[in-house]
Amino acid sequence: MNQKQVRRIINDLGHIRVSCSKEEKFTAEYLAEECKKMGIEAKVETFELPVSEITRAVLTADGKPFPCTGYQFGKNGSVDAPLLYVPRVDEINLAAAKGRVVLVDGWIRKPEYEKILKAGAVGLITYDGDVKWRDRDIDTKELRFSHEGLERLFGVNVNAKDAVKLVEMGSPKIHIEMDQKEGKADSYNAVATLPGTTDEWIVLSAHLDSRPTAPGVWDNLTGCLALLQTLEDLKKTAPNRFGVIALFCGSEERGLLGAKAFVKDHAEEIPKWMLNVNVDMIGSTMGVLKCMVNGTDSAAAWLKAYCNEVGYSVDVTQQVMSSDSTVFADKGVPALAFGNMAPRNQNAIHCRYDDGSTVFVPRILEHSAFISAMTCRLASSFRCPIERKIPKNIREELDKYLNIKKD
Ligand SMILES: [Zn+2]
Repeated sequence: MNQKQVRRIINDLGHIRVSCSKEEKFTAEYLAEECKKMGIEAKVETFELPVSEITRAVLTADGKPFPCTGYQFGKNGSVDAPLLYVPRVDEINLAAAKGRVVLVDGWIRKPEYEKILKAGAVGLITYDGDVKWRDRDIDTKELRFSHEGLERLFGVNVNAKDAVKLVEMGSPKIHIEMDQKEGKADSYNAVATLPGTTDEWIVLSAHLDSRPTAPGVWDNLTGCLALLQTLEDLKKTAPNRFGVIALFCGSEERGLLGAKAFVKDHAEEIPKWMLNVNVDMIGSTMGVLKCMVNGTDSAAAWLKAYCNEVGYSVDVTQQVMSSDSTVFADKGVPALAFGNMAPRNQNAIHCRYDDGSTVFVPRILEHSAFISAMTCRLASSFRCPIERKIPKNIREELDKYLNIKKD
């Protein structure tokens, strides 16, 4: 790929691409088409997901209205209760939560949600955005745990500026009204296949969807571009020893649902998958390329040695990444999960500012070139140097991340 091709793809796809939308479908078809243009077999695979359309979401505090988005799959109806700000979801703060609407910082994971339920709270307010930004965008959130049978609470999400106002009001009387239409809809993965001379495969993955307010250029068109670059290079020497599947995942932003659908629909193929190479956010103007190894010490040592050999600095750590790689590692397939972490305040995701202004096309090509060269090396090796093994420390991290085991 050259700079012009990268710019064309960012221009064509750098728009909001939410799970189960026509834009997500368009993106999957477009990426499959890009693979076909290289002479690589590709198709779109659909999978069905629960969807919700919020038809009413109202939040007032002491009668004063606040803009909000309703939690999809939250409770419908209305509730009146005083506010409690819970800066840390623990038993001490939650001791006063009974019969109240709690406002929490940040991301709610299942263990925290369970604690809030147990404390007897009647509603949940979360927030995102930044007090320093001029926009008043509000992301749409989903009460994922309701899909797992947990009790539903009233839930709304607000902008950070309004969250601050609510907390400064002390303990205002909160009123929430919620209504939504629930149903099912299709989401989309694009899957490209480049067979090798053996029936052993490397699975590349990058998610193609974005959050509801985000054009999703850094997160994660850049990862999709890295996969296209890698396929283009692999094709030149095909058939390589290992076959390669490139999975462009839908619905990652709703909980890795595209990758989960893929491993479920292709369960009988899992023993043939030697390795996953996942790319989620590269090419930020500032910042170092990172690789989180979901594998053994020897896997990390191999990658460090490879970086040394080719003279390219990558921050190699042994840890789980919050991305599709965890789905493969969970099934026993080791993963090399690439992403470039930007320095503080140098980039943003899941908001309107992920619009391409903070990625740098030469950097996208540079990071892609490294990932591609590494993958080509692995795909042509006589034996995959990455041990097909998930060590205990990574297994424990995976269990915690995937809510298999509580902390
Ligand atoms: Zn992402």
